[in-house]
Amino acid sequence: MSDVIQLLPDSVANQIAAGEVIQRPASVIKELVENAVDAGARNIQVVVVDAGRTNIQVIDDGKGMSETDARLAFERHSTSKIRKADDLFALRTMGFRGEALASIAAVAQVELKTRQESDEIGTLVAISGSRYERQEPCACPVGTNFSVSNIFYNVPARRKFLKSNSTELNNILTAFERIALVNPQISFTLHSNGTEVFNLRAANLRQRILDVFGKKFNHDLLPVNVETTMCKVSGFAGKPEAARKKGVHQFFFVNGRYMKHPYFNKAVMAAYDRLIPVGEQVPYFLYFEVDPKDIDVNIHPTKTEIKFENEQAIWQILSAAVKESIGMFNDVPTIDFDT
Ligand code: ADP
Ligand code: MG
Repeated sequence: MSDVIQLLPDSVANQIAAGEVIQRPASVIKELVENAVDAGARNIQVVVVDAGRTNIQVIDDGKGMSETDARLAFERHSTSKIRKADDLFALRTMGFRGEALASIAAVAQVELKTRQESDEIGTLVAISGSRYERQEPCACPVGTNFSVSNIFYNVPARRKFLKSNSTELNNILTAFERIALVNPQISFTLHSNGTEVFNLRAANLRQRILDVFGKKFNHDLLPVNVETTMCKVSGFAGKPEAARKKGVHQFFFVNGRYMKHPYFNKAVMAAYDRLIPVGEQVPYFLYFEVDPKDIDVNIHPTKTEIKFENEQAIWQILSAAVKESIGMFNDVPTIDFDT
């Protein structure tokens, strides 16, 4: 008889898990910015060098971490956001897996500086490839500053697999925009290679959309608002004239989280039936609020599909709400495309 099974060392387990959570620099930005949102930040700064390949920095003025937590945060399955399985059904935070920091630290060189308001001095933790290098006191403002360097330095196959800087930067912009669009009350900046790409002041939702995508949207947005016992939907849908063949901004969010939902997309488009040319799409920014127990966000760490109870009923509510907005706010008559 010979036993052959062994438990993997943490550093190896972390690197395997990281493959799921951290695919590219944009994943690091998504995870770190979501953590900053969960920490109650009012201001979040993102700085990238070489589309995140060389360095990514996320700086927030949230609640910070204690000396012990700053170290523990990098362990796998370490989280302050849930305590028991039942908490998953009442989730109000972006995070809950306790995997992101462990994964990032497994495939990059990370330096964390953080301080809580009640502490006079902050703490610095340096960790590379899951190995703690040092922890020491450091003078820093209240909040948290993550610096992530040389992503995939120890996973050459992954590093080689990264796309051109312009593609990786586009992925970063997409991740950044999604979070900015659902947190208009937070100020965000994004700098790339020393150039300011975004400087978004805390604003209302309409203003945030215009700040992200340009003032041209101002005349295109129809407010949508509906509340039933099942869900609340608010936000904006485009006027029929805003229909385009491609490059159309369409966003669904649920309880503060971006989601893809092809079925609900059809519900929105059904409201424009006969108002827009076949094959065109209309921009929309629609925000669902539902009881956390009615959705399942625990599908896959990076998947943006979310399962709802009652999808058919929500389809009807959504389609009717958008239709009503078009009717109420848009006085353009129905266009007959056959003539
Ligand atoms: P999760 O977000 O799923 O809890 P993470 O690995 O992303 O897991 O983070 C682990 C923990 O580290 C969080 O639960 C939180 O307590 C702490 N943390 C991470 N980022 C921040 C931050 N920017 N400010 C304060 N605490 C943070
Ligand atoms: Mg997190």
